[in-house]
Amino acid sequence: MTSKTCQGEPFGGLGYDYDPQWVLTPQQQQLQTRLRELCATVLRPNAIASDRELIYPRENFEALASLGLLGLLVPAEWGGLGENHVCAAMVVETIARYGCPSTAMCYTMHLGAVAAALFRAQDNPELQQLLKRLDAEVFIGTLSYSDPETGSHFWYPVSSRAEQTADGWQVFKKASWTTSAGFADWYVVQTTSPNFDGDFSDLSCFLIYRDEVQAEPHKWDALGLRGNQSGTLLVDGVSIPSQRMIGPSGDGAYSNDEIVDPFFLLCSSACWNEIAMGAIDIAKKHVTRKKHVDVGLRVADYPTIQDYFGEAVIDTNACRMFTLSMGQLMDQLTHDCDWSIHQDATAMPRSAYLHWYWQIKFAAAKNVAHVCDKMLHACGGSGYKKDMEIERYLRDGKAGWVMGPTNEVLRQFVGKSALLGFEALDYWSQQVNERVLHNEVKKMDAEGKRQLAEQLLAEVEVEAEQPAVNKPLVASTV
Ligand SMILES: Cc1cc2nc3c(=O)[nH]c(=O)nc-3n(C[C@H](O)[C@H](O)[C@H](O)COP(=O)(O)OP(=O)(O)OC[C@H]3O[C@@H](n4cnc5c(N)ncnc54)[C@H](O)[C@@H]3O)c2cc1C
Repeated sequence: MTSKTCQGEPFGGLGYDYDPQWVLTPQQQQLQTRLRELCATVLRPNAIASDRELIYPRENFEALASLGLLGLLVPAEWGGLGENHVCAAMVVETIARYGCPSTAMCYTMHLGAVAAALFRAQDNPELQQLLKRLDAEVFIGTLSYSDPETGSHFWYPVSSRAEQTADGWQVFKKASWTTSAGFADWYVVQTTSPNFDGDFSDLSCFLIYRDEVQAEPHKWDALGLRGNQSGTLLVDGVSIPSQRMIGPSGDGAYSNDEIVDPFFLLCSSACWNEIAMGAIDIAKKHVTRKKHVDVGLRVADYPTIQDYFGEAVIDTNACRMFTLSMGQLMDQLTHDCDWSIHQDATAMPRSAYLHWYWQIKFAAAKNVAHVCDKMLHACGGSGYKKDMEIERYLRDGKAGWVMGPTNEVLRQFVGKSALLGFEALDYWSQQVNERVLHNEVKKMDAEGKRQLAEQLLAEVEVEAEQPAVNKPLVASTV
């Protein structure tokens, strides 16, 4: 294997010995090398300014477009690179590790939006036109899902809705967080469906352009991923033509399970893994150079420091292999990311493995914070200073745990479904937990029970007169 270089010089961080290059095709390895050079010359210098001055990384997107990376997943006949899931993970990895983590996250959201459009582009000329413009016009997309009222439960957009008009839709979207808000050129937004009747699992997705959104980028100021500009977004009753609904009405939950979640979880995991690798690279450069003349040793010669690195590399590579194996599985399931399989609108091969994507994100986001912390320790006081960049990687990596689905939510999902089955997850609060209900009622005296019964009967009377906003709840044995 050739040795890793950077701008013609030997690379000072970890070499290929600790990279799983065997998951990439020769063509993907060449792309990786070209992208690494671009990271060194353009993306990384911009990352420093972006972090210090809260600059949105549009210049970095222009550089990515020069390699055709905005259309990475777009089929060749529509002008894209027609690449697969493993390649998507590799590109995000490379940007995060050698270039700019904020750009890697904005790019992750872009890929998620591109995938959501590709999923339903087969018979939609508006989406096909959009997908052909990505690199030529540096046409950046993003996903706007999170709602101010439901926080990290981003699948529950209570503040958003859509209505049918004579020639299309009127969309009302209120998002508390949207990466690239106000900077992206197009947005995939999710609302309840136009014929919403109280069932919050009835969701629809819409394509909204930049001049139709209101954003507040001046309010964005965060610990890390500072170039990411994940601010609020408002689509205030914008009227759009019918073709700008992505997929049929009510397709939102399918789009989430088959596309948005798998792509976001795969690519964001790749981002967290390589923020960890980036911190290891920086720390390696430092500890192999810094000497203590009193004992005649480099910092890297201390067994304690070697142990830090050994554990960081092993844990991070376990997360990388876990993530990449999910990319390989997605490639197997979709004949190498062939979008034509979705001509059959019921084709949902990725969604059967959603619980595996939850696991890769949890592991990656947990690992990155620990590894960056230990790498900072290994660099001592020097690591604490801004010029070494390790503190930036530490701050950027901290976003992993809190980004939805948060790690608290993910371990709940995995633990609960492992113990009680997937139906116990009840994303949209549609099932009554009768165990809890009976247990609480048991604590009441006769008078308390009578008052509750009267209150419930009064509610039933009101609901009988006007259709209930919330759908009937389904009894469950959870
Ligand atoms: C850098 C960054 C970029 C982002 N970009 C986007 C974007 O592009 N698009 C988008 O739609 N959103 C985006 N988000 C939003 C993100 O997905 C989450 O919605 C958001 O971080 C949640 O923040 P909150 O303050 O509402 O948390 P809350 O939901 O209020 O959570 C508070 C705490 O409660 C915990 N909690 C919540 N629900 C449960 C539960 N059921 N069980 C156990 N614990 C629970 C959480 O884990 C957390 O610890 C971004 C967030 C960040 C930090």
